[in-house]
Amino acid sequence: MLATAIVEKNAYDVALENFDLAANALDLEDNIRTMIKYPERILSVSVPVRMDSGKVVRFEGYRVQHSTLRGPAKGGIRYHPNVTVDEVKALATWMTWKCAVVNIPFGGGKGGVTCNPKALSLGELERLTRRYASSILPLIGPEKDIPAPDVYTTPQIMAWIMDTYSMNKGYPVHGVVTGKPISLGGSLGRNEATGRGVFYTTVSSCRHLGISVEGARVVVQGFGNAGSIAAQLFHAAGTKVLAVNDTRGCICNLKGLDIPAVIAFKNRTGSVVGFPGADSIKQEELLALECEILVPAALENAITVENAHTIHARIVSEAANGPVTPEADRILDQNGVFLIPDILCNAGGVTVSYFEWVQDENHLFWDEQDVNNRLEKVMTRAFQDVLKIHLDRKVNMRLAANMLGVSRVADASRVRGLYP
Ligand code: NAD
Repeated sequence: MLATAIVEKNAYDVALENFDLAANALDLEDNIRTMIKYPERILSVSVPVRMDSGKVVRFEGYRVQHSTLRGPAKGGIRYHPNVTVDEVKALATWMTWKCAVVNIPFGGGKGGVTCNPKALSLGELERLTRRYASSILPLIGPEKDIPAPDVYTTPQIMAWIMDTYSMNKGYPVHGVVTGKPISLGGSLGRNEATGRGVFYTTVSSCRHLGISVEGARVVVQGFGNAGSIAAQLFHAAGTKVLAVNDTRGCICNLKGLDIPAVIAFKNRTGSVVGFPGADSIKQEELLALECEILVPAALENAITVENAHTIHARIVSEAANGPVTPEADRILDQNGVFLIPDILCNAGGVTVSYFEWVQDENHLFWDEQDVNNRLEKVMTRAFQDVLKIHLDRKVNMRLAANMLGVSRVADASRVRGLYP
């Protein structure tokens, strides 16, 4: 009965609520709130695609620019059956605060197509991508709005968008998307950047809390790009990764999983399920495991009011966007869990996207060590900036990160003024 009585807010309501909390804590003037809270532009497009059967199927697509106050809009494109305009608006809003938290000169944007890419052939995926890219073409560009990969979009999909844009312009424009293949101006280290940023901010948190990284127990929910790379770095640093999962199920070994072997197994079979030497457990059990570090790296709303009280981790590192609902946030907070909020924890991806754009625009090519060193510097500084607000103002880490992001955007808005 309880389950039906609890209705979690949609992602955009959560984004607005978090903005209000930050604006109140900053005592932000009403005029600035009005100017920076809402998306600047929302484009909704109809995407007809000729399927391999010859039938034409129509998909819904979106591109939202939440803010261009600090620079061009920046944010990924998601292909998923559950994509809605509200989800895209929420993700675009988070991008604005995220870029401000790591202090890169970008605003926030996001795109999405409501589709199941796993059910599409490669040809259908390419036609869908090129038609969607053509439809959002008036909005995007290296100085205006720069898409990137998100859930179920890949470097190949970015290459098709870059090609579609370039063919329309009549010359190659590398800086129109990031997360491209290396052969097309992609940055070394971009693929690993989100997981790496999760790792750096979690290590900083361990230091702050006096937890030794070596020997710490880690649980990772979602074993895609962000989750598997983070797991690999935790494993290499001497932690014990107890459990990981994907949409097909969860695997657990309390002595620690051999993560490089799990990655090789997943690459071979398509899933972590069936990995030898691990037990199969339920997702509720995975999230409730006794551990120092829990990394939700799948989708939104993984930790809700219904399961927050079962979390036993000391640190929750939000690799995913919005994995903890506001109600669950309050429960984790009361239980003394140290949360690294998404707009800080997973900002490594957009930071190296920024490095990629800088390299493209300047025709440069940095080596991987250079990229990783710059990333570590940016993530560590952002962590310290957020931690300072957390300690000085005695607010939780989510609110501290939102306060930092919102205050930097508010400053930009104040000095730019209101046009006309
Ligand atoms: P991905 O598609 O590579 O991986 C997602 C993983 O989650 C897959 O292994 C999938 O099987 C698993 N998954 C999906 N639903 C699940 C469920 N209900 N339970 C368990 N596992 C589930 O995507 P990604 O790029 O790793 O993104 C994951 C999250 O990280 C998203 O919230 C995304 O917005 C966020 N993120 C990613 C990046 C990036 O650069 N990749 C940057 C910032 C934020």
